[in-house]
Amino acid sequence: MKFKDLTYQRPDFDKLIAEINELLDRLEAAESEEVFFETNKKIEDITNKYNEMFEIAYIRNTINTEDEFYDKEMEAFYEAGPRFNQVDHRHQTIRLNTPYRKAFEEKYGSMITARDELKRDVFDPSIMDDRVKESKLVNEYNKLTGGARIEFRGEVKNISGMTAFTQDKDRQTRKEAFEALNGWFADNLEELDRIYDELVKVRTQIANKLGYKTYTPIAYKLMERVDWDIEDARAYRKQILDVVVPFTQKLYKEQKQRIGIDDFKYYDVPLSFLSGNPKPIGAEEVLVKQASKMYHELSPETDEFFKAMVEKGMMDLTTKQGKAPGGYMTYLPISKMPYIFSNFNGTSGDVDVLTHEAGHAFQGYLTRNVFPSENNIITSEIAETHSMSMEFFTHPWMENFFGEDTEKYYYHHVTDALEFLPYGASIDEFQEEVYENPDMTPAERRAKYREIEKKYLPHLDYDGNEYLENGGRWQRQLHVYNYPFYYLDYTIAQVNAFQYFVWDMKDHKEAWESYLKLCHISGKLATKKALKEVGLKSPFEDGTIAEIIPKLEKYLDSLDKEKIK
Ligand code: ZN
Repeated sequence: MKFKDLTYQRPDFDKLIAEINELLDRLEAAESEEVFFETNKKIEDITNKYNEMFEIAYIRNTINTEDEFYDKEMEAFYEAGPRFNQVDHRHQTIRLNTPYRKAFEEKYGSMITARDELKRDVFDPSIMDDRVKESKLVNEYNKLTGGARIEFRGEVKNISGMTAFTQDKDRQTRKEAFEALNGWFADNLEELDRIYDELVKVRTQIANKLGYKTYTPIAYKLMERVDWDIEDARAYRKQILDVVVPFTQKLYKEQKQRIGIDDFKYYDVPLSFLSGNPKPIGAEEVLVKQASKMYHELSPETDEFFKAMVEKGMMDLTTKQGKAPGGYMTYLPISKMPYIFSNFNGTSGDVDVLTHEAGHAFQGYLTRNVFPSENNIITSEIAETHSMSMEFFTHPWMENFFGEDTEKYYYHHVTDALEFLPYGASIDEFQEEVYENPDMTPAERRAKYREIEKKYLPHLDYDGNEYLENGGRWQRQLHVYNYPFYYLDYTIAQVNAFQYFVWDMKDHKEAWESYLKLCHISGKLATKKALKEVGLKSPFEDGTIAEIIPKLEKYLDSLDKEKIK
């Protein structure tokens, strides 16, 4: 069935919760393994029905935010959400304490219960009010930044509306755009500082109530990091500092020469090429046709996947009036199909959707029959490995998307990914400092960020901009407010994807087989174990990054410099 023909009906929330609770009673009292497993399956069936309807409503709501019907449906789901969280919590508790736990783990692996344990560790009725306070503060931040009105050359823009100007070919435009953007943040500094200060305080209070000194271990548990910790993060960041930073500094020097600017300022960083960034050769119809051809040639698995996506209309790609911003991939558990949502706008980001989001979707499609579906819950560093690696496995087809801009695309894709690593590390180190020293004042925090920033991003010359000189840059990174410690994951996934890139150039067949295996492992193994299982080196291990960099350098050197201007 096509997505547009799927029937939506609001679930009867009361009835579903009563049914699940009844099944949970039976699960708790199960007199045999058979009853236990059978009941578990029934709970999943009900949950899937709920999730399918949620996803349909969510997708249709984002496709047309002006459609009041789905707007109301989403409100109903959000209202019912906490009640479903409660039954989830009950389910997890039963699973941890059941005499059939061992049998369960033997049958389905130990990741589900390992995650249950993490969730148990970070939950206590005494922190409920603190969590409410936390989400109110997060909302305050999102509302404040979401409602930003930035005056620029006689027009009023929001934050994302400024992006195009900060990348403009004209230097004065970029400079003024950045000044306007940071001017808004500077004007709201007190508020941004206050919200974050209160967030740090309330999170620390939560940690204390749960018996921890700081929030750091709580955040790691919430991120479901089963087999890596703060020590791993530190060792990993050190590799970035020692190996990546010297290389990216060299890349910035080359950029400076390429764009012909002697006094390279922070507002020059977004301009990679004087001729502008690589542009795709066409709009949705052309790009999807090329993607079909590409996935057909890449492997039988990707061919089947992409054909199903097209046939079932599981994509809504081009931007239009009323569509929600951004892009995402999600999954419909009854239809057993992924869905891709995006806002094609004629930039190279359009092609990224067909490689990156499609990478997520491909993994979801491959594992559509996994039971229990909780074995498909993946930590972000692994999920992003699936998607970021697909960006590299599809490299050989990029000429069909970028035409004469292909070499520029290659260069930009690799250097951009490399340059992201130090920034990601700076955000992570900053958060560690913040939560390990919760009594720092807002000014001390900003000074700390500037100090860290100078280590990882020494090329940044803020040209006397007071707000940035005083360490305000992180306030634009919503993860810092919304999801503590959620950021290093992206860089870890990037390092994994680089490994696949290098491997793919050496031996495509072997690299692709390993990638398929990683997709199938899904959430069944913890990060380090999963990587080891498929023959990737752990990014946390000293030497992993040092081994990759010279290979990427060689690749960049092999590109036709005449075409990269
Ligand atoms: Zn992604």
